Amino acid sequence: MLMRSATSAVVLTVAVLGGSLAARHAQEPAPGTTITGVRIVDGTGAPPRTGNVRFEHDRIVAVGDAGPREGDALVEGRGLVLAPGFIDIHNHSTNGLAEEPAAATQVSQGITTIVVGADGSSPWPIAGYLAERRAKPAALDALVMVGHATVRRRVMGDDYKRPARDDEIARMAALVDQGMTEGAIGLSSGLEYEVGSYSETKELVALAKAAARHGGFYMSHIRDEADRAFDAFREAIAIGEQARIPVQISHIKLGTVGVWHKSRDVVKMIEDAHARGVDVTADCYPYDAWHSTITVLVPNKQYDDPASVRKALDDVGGAANVMIDRDETHPDYEYRTLEAIARDKGVTPVDLFIQIVKDGGASVVGKSMVEDDIRTFYTQPWVMVASDGGIGLRHPRSAGTFPRVLAKFVREQHWLTLQEAVRKMTGAPAARLKLADRGTIAVGKRADLVLFDPETITDRSTFQDPFVLAEGVKRVFHAGVSVWPR
Ligand SMILES: [Zn+2]
Repeated sequence: MLMRSATSAVVLTVAVLGGSLAARHAQEPAPGTTITGVRIVDGTGAPPRTGNVRFEHDRIVAVGDAGPREGDALVEGRGLVLAPGFIDIHNHSTNGLAEEPAAATQVSQGITTIVVGADGSSPWPIAGYLAERRAKPAALDALVMVGHATVRRRVMGDDYKRPARDDEIARMAALVDQGMTEGAIGLSSGLEYEVGSYSETKELVALAKAAARHGGFYMSHIRDEADRAFDAFREAIAIGEQARIPVQISHIKLGTVGVWHKSRDVVKMIEDAHARGVDVTADCYPYDAWHSTITVLVPNKQYDDPASVRKALDDVGGAANVMIDRDETHPDYEYRTLEAIARDKGVTPVDLFIQIVKDGGASVVGKSMVEDDIRTFYTQPWVMVASDGGIGLRHPRSAGTFPRVLAKFVREQHWLTLQEAVRKMTGAPAARLKLADRGTIAVGKRADLVLFDPETITDRSTFQDPFVLAEGVKRVFHAGVSVWPR
């Protein structure tokens, strides 16, 4: 009896609320927003055209001449560009989103969708991660990959420093299958990293086949980005070919002196793969340097062996290409290159390196690419913009990638047209991710929109100050909700 009256009270409340909402709808037009007189760069690569874009709730309902409806919120778009929300296909905000759902460093660039779980390392289980995101919605959407190293560790435990046996590969494939069933969109690998580096190609093919059965793609930080990069590109393509899966090469680069200026050969290799019917694309961040600990320069870990250290410095083009960023033992070294410090002290850069490591190490910024190669990659239609950064990751790409491309490669250097740069940030990644509801501005698409000033948009983040927000992004809408500025 008591329960029954409680139930009817609930029904009554709903009925009253529903009634008042219906009454409001009858008096007012549907709530909408119209952005007026804006240059629309729609994400397809089509030239900009001027018009209005109107959305209701989370959907775009009109594009072109249609004026605002009565009661619409109006956004003045004159002098500005409206693009689809940017999609970052390689982002490391995996854990940062829980702590900072407003994601200021990301949305201030115009990013409204990110892909996490790159480089072979993903959250697990996938369903749990996605449930957490749903329970605590962020200012952008996060899609997730299954990490190869993640499933490898689950199957092999600490005994991973060897090729996997067939039964282990089968168990890993079952986990990939599980992750895809739970909502992952593909398989990622990080074959230069500790756990992934011990895998053989056949292991990756087997796992990629499991992802392919669900319509997923294979995304790889390839096995070598330095002197053996060409073998690594070849392997990534072979995995795509054998597993019949689309391939995304993460942060495509030629990272050492031995392969610098060979980007045209990489392009040829990938175009040959396209001609054979292999679906290979890539992404590239707009920076020529990495940020890490000084010891990563020496892959064989012989930090006190002069020959190994000399080879390491030669590989990045010399001690002038390594800048100390943070050194607690020697704060006077900070923001200076190894070459400059060594010259002042009258020692060789090799001896200086060995001493710094002995004294506790330092974080450094190292040259990883030459501009010629970055330009060759960026101007390929199959190369997208991605950050490889994310909330809290100490590299200027974390807060600057997308505005930097629009400032440097479009406005200043004219490598790309505005519409082509935007396509690399929107339509192209949406196609790779099979996101039919976003990536372009058209009626029926989700209202993920970024309004920016093409004359002033720029990155402000630096290696010294990596989290300074970019400038020039005026408004960002995520599923029709204004998320920037806050
Ligand atoms: Zn990576």
